[in-house]
Amino acid sequence: MPRVARADATGALPMSTLKFDGRPLLFIGFDDTENALYQQLLTGYGRDFPSILTAPDITQALEIIRDTAPCCCILDDTAAGPVGLSPLARLRQEFAAENLPVVVLMAKENEEQSYSLLQQGAQDYLIKSEATAPRLYGALRNAIHTSHLQNQLTHFAHYDVLTGLLNRNLLYNRLAHTIGRCNRYNLECALVVIDIDSFKPFNEIYGYEVGDQILQHVATCIRNNCRHTDSPARMGSDEFMVLLEQVNEQVSQQITEKIITAIQAPFEVSGLQISLTASAGIANYPLAASVEEMLKHADEALFLAKRDQQVNFVNFSKQHKITWTRQQLLERELAKAIQQGDLALVYQPIVTASDYTLKRFEALSRWPRNDFAVSAPELIAMIDRLNLIEPFHDWLFQTAFGQIQAWNKELIVADVCLNIPANYCYSHSIARTIEQALVRFNIPPDKVELEITESTLMLYPERSVELLQGLHNKGLKIAVDDFGTGYSSMAYLTQLPLDTLKIDKQFFLDNAKNERNRKVIEAVTALGHSLGLEIIAEGVETQAELELAKQVGCDLLQGFYFGRPQMAGGDWNSYFKHFSNIILPSK
Ligand code: C2E
Ligand code: MG
Ligand code: MG
Repeated sequence: MPRVARADATGALPMSTLKFDGRPLLFIGFDDTENALYQQLLTGYGRDFPSILTAPDITQALEIIRDTAPCCCILDDTAAGPVGLSPLARLRQEFAAENLPVVVLMAKENEEQSYSLLQQGAQDYLIKSEATAPRLYGALRNAIHTSHLQNQLTHFAHYDVLTGLLNRNLLYNRLAHTIGRCNRYNLECALVVIDIDSFKPFNEIYGYEVGDQILQHVATCIRNNCRHTDSPARMGSDEFMVLLEQVNEQVSQQITEKIITAIQAPFEVSGLQISLTASAGIANYPLAASVEEMLKHADEALFLAKRDQQVNFVNFSKQHKITWTRQQLLERELAKAIQQGDLALVYQPIVTASDYTLKRFEALSRWPRNDFAVSAPELIAMIDRLNLIEPFHDWLFQTAFGQIQAWNKELIVADVCLNIPANYCYSHSIARTIEQALVRFNIPPDKVELEITESTLMLYPERSVELLQGLHNKGLKIAVDDFGTGYSSMAYLTQLPLDTLKIDKQFFLDNAKNERNRKVIEAVTALGHSLGLEIIAEGVETQAELELAKQVGCDLLQGFYFGRPQMAGGDWNSYFKHFSNIILPSK
């Protein structure tokens, strides 16, 4: 390692550097006469002046710099350098990080050249014929001072002022270099992202000064628990990262555990006892193969760690990668899939309990793909997360109403039931979008029932009342879906403009033979009837469940007993052949 002027732990240069620090001065490329002349000038001038070394060319100069760490170099602008690179450029290339102070002595005044010298990294220059002792001495001090300021600037650009850790820029830079090295030499490394849980209240309750001290303490915990070859960084507010070099998964987990244990040990700040909890996510190279992937894996692992109350950190594993890659792919393609009509609806009949006459269809969404299966609840959750609720419902209404219109033309008359998620249920745009689609396909509003899950209804009961009343006034019917799973308040049930209760399928699937359960279904059915509602039994799969639903007084039945939901593609007969036991309403 070169011993040139180095920053201390905080990155600042020691002040003594400005006073030459007892280190030699190096003349590069001058002949003997010039060396003797300048030496004489300087030694006769300053009292604190260091010893002087000389190098005839840049190659020897580089060696001397490595060995003696001079306080400043004085370079003859005509000094011989390797072909294609000026001596100054060679110096800067070799000691890029150190910002070594350099003064260039020029043979004659040349504005272009002096500008180019400064551009190449000389801190100062002087015309040889004007090189008096005070001028030369002044140029030296100037070069050292400028180099010091440049180092400070570099430090502020690369380090976090509060904690002295690397900042985001420098960490990204190191990460890129480390990954390049790992790739080339087949090495491993890890990136750990650490987040203090609920840090904000500390600032709010005790003030920012205490908050800052807490962050400094966290930085110390991190610094003390990784090796000096690792790179701890503060990414902003209460988020930290550490780049761990040459570690496998196991070691990276051990280090993370040590860091988290240190952070979570109680400590004192300004007389206050502080206890923190922290979460961390770990990404490992080569499982993550690029800077971008390292950051994403670490972030995702942190998200998983925060979500799971049982663990402090998560190591992003192969299995996580498979799940995450699938999700990324789906999320990237979903908007386009909606736009291009790649989603599909399947329809499941709902029949009367008395004689199994077809009454309604429930439309259920699907995303048919060759690579992955996507469940309906996953699809709906993704649509919500990606803010695609509006375009999705536009597609849903158009598709479902278009299908009902097509079946109507084949003289099949039945209502259509559509599931509406929490977010959309409370948005004002639903009424407009649904109305436009009804008009376009000439569907009377009372042929459409909106199914809203019980838990959704109970999120904001007052708003539900207002919005659903608006939709109901337009003629649409409203059903409570999955009834029995959402702890409804009876008071609100009576205020909501409801038409139908769908008793959740779990009641029928799990407990067809359970006497207490039967009593619950009976009571729910009686309650629904007393409010004037129709009751649908969901999840009727077997003869036993069918009997139960009928005995407790359900009005309508839906389930695999009659058939699974099916795509409508083609004409009515090709759809209806999948179902059995169903009577078609008389035309
Ligand atoms: P849900 O609204 O309660 O729909 C009924 C679900 O039960 C459907 O599952 C259906 O295939 C299934 N099912 C019907 N009969 C039986 C049976 O006899 N046994 C069993 N085990 N299951 C039966 P699917 O299609 O997977 O949908 C699941 C949930 O996803 C739906 O529950 C609904 O909450 C949601 N979903 C589906 N499509 C949409 C949609 O377009 N919008 C919204 N917001 N949610 C949807
Ligand atoms: Mg439903
Ligand atoms: Mg349901």
